[in-house]
Amino acid sequence: MSIRQVLAAGLMVAAASGGVAAGPGWTYRGEHGAEHWAQMKREWAMCSMGKRQSPIDIVSARPGPAAQLRFEYHPAALRIVNDGHTVRVRFNNASKLNLGGEALSLQQFHFHMPGGDKLWGEEFPMGMHFLHKSASGRLVSLVLLFRQGAENQALKALLPHMPAQGLPEQSLAQVQVDPAEWLPASKGHYRYEGSLTAPPCTEGVLWLVMKQPLEVSAAQLAMLHRLFPDNARPTQPLHGREVLESP
Ligand SMILES: [Zn+2]
Repeated sequence: MSIRQVLAAGLMVAAASGGVAAGPGWTYRGEHGAEHWAQMKREWAMCSMGKRQSPIDIVSARPGPAAQLRFEYHPAALRIVNDGHTVRVRFNNASKLNLGGEALSLQQFHFHMPGGDKLWGEEFPMGMHFLHKSASGRLVSLVLLFRQGAENQALKALLPHMPAQGLPEQSLAQVQVDPAEWLPASKGHYRYEGSLTAPPCTEGVLWLVMKQPLEVSAAQLAMLHRLFPDNARPTQPLHGREVLESP
């Protein structure tokens, strides 16, 4: 065998075994599901060791500082990707959430089914996370929860543009998406200290859960289900955390 043939044979073995460096991907259910994340990689230990993990079941809340949410969201040309875990829409257009005088820039929103955070034991069939970043790099995740009911108009406009898994991120200059169209009329919310809800489960994320659930139709939920599997991490223990409630 020449050197070239040896290298070619090695490459074929690596390809057949799925690549030497690639480890198993994480999922929400089964062998690589949420209860196994901490064992899959040392860097993911927080997924079981953490004491401020998300999502949670909000079963008590105390009136907190009445920091108003002021949304300065603007429409942007659609940038969208289906990474196999969820469908993400990305923003880089100066859309902001102002929280107690701090401007948080909107990075992306994405979908969860079921909704993740619960309210007094109620599990919602769908949730959305709007991820923001402060100037100092702090992550703030705003949660919208959806009950099954009427057709959701913002989702209706977006669904035809949702890509299948495995395609690269798409930019559709002719499609405008306005993040403000998703928001509930009431800006009342709960607030707690949590984490990323997927590996590496990093803590230090501020969670704002909007109190007023929105609606989504059964047909729309079925369409989303065809794009990605159930993708909500189970609720996590509070470990003494307090949830604050705005008026
Ligand atoms: Zn999320």
